[in-house]
Amino acid sequence: MSHTLKIISTENVTHDVRKIRLEKPEGYSYEPGQATEVAINKDGWKEEFRPFTFTSLTGEDHLEFVIKIYPDHSGLTEQIGKLKEGDELIIKDPWGAITYKGEGVFLAGGAGVTPFIAILRDLHKKGKLEGNKLIFSNKTTKDVILGEEFRKMLGDGFTSVITSEKQDRSQAEKHEFTDGHINRDFLKKHIDDFSQSFYVCGPEPFNEAIIGHLKDLGASPDALVFEE
Ligand SMILES: Cc1cc2nc3c(=O)[nH]c(=O)nc-3n(C[C@H](O)[C@H](O)[C@H](O)COP(=O)(O)OP(=O)(O)OC[C@H]3O[C@@H](n4cnc5c(N)ncnc54)[C@H](O)[C@@H]3O)c2cc1C
Repeated sequence: MSHTLKIISTENVTHDVRKIRLEKPEGYSYEPGQATEVAINKDGWKEEFRPFTFTSLTGEDHLEFVIKIYPDHSGLTEQIGKLKEGDELIIKDPWGAITYKGEGVFLAGGAGVTPFIAILRDLHKKGKLEGNKLIFSNKTTKDVILGEEFRKMLGDGFTSVITSEKQDRSQAEKHEFTDGHINRDFLKKHIDDFSQSFYVCGPEPFNEAIIGHLKDLGASPDALVFEE
């Protein structure tokens, strides 16, 4: 079933990521980590559905998405970046992506953090977040989505990894600067138990590399590939 919904607000959360809030249809419900297909209610775009993850929780009176805009794709996200309050999106029914299966380590690359936003917000709201960790990898400090919120919710359980920027001393407390991608040694240093749950979500090369290292270290991760 499709729902045509008005945008209540749209704002930047980073230089290329928008937070979009929508009206919520009566009785619409979804689980933290679930996604839906989204299109724009404009001529030429009504059939162009792409998957996005709810970052709101089902009990809230609105729906929220956090969407990375790719202006060079000439695709849906370029158009979403131009939308204003009052414009409309079309969404379908929710469907499963990643679900929480117990305390563990969440590893995200870029916009792949979105299913974890809802899962972590939900656990935080229920007072059950303790013991979980988020390792969030981005190229530069300006790419980190909702860093302050993660730090507030998770405290020391949040590690922001910056892979392609020279270390800036003023940022050293907030981020861990690595010379290149997260590798096996990095995971060994930050994780002491490889029998817990692992949740991995990012672009395909990120997932492939992380899952390879985790398996090597004895883990069995749950993963979701984010197409870019
Ligand atoms: C389950 C799931 C949940 C997701 N949730 C989210 C979310 O919450 N937030 C989020 O930001 N993303 C999310 N994504 C990723 C999101 O779906 C994609 O970023 C989105 O589909 C891109 O749409 P697009 O039309 O802008 O680009 P595309 O569909 O990639 O491309 C549109 C056009 O551009 C061309 N193109 C493709 N790649 C390039 C390139 N590199 N350079 C130039 N042109 C190119 C294509 O050929 C096509 O013609 C999710 C993905 C999945 C699978």
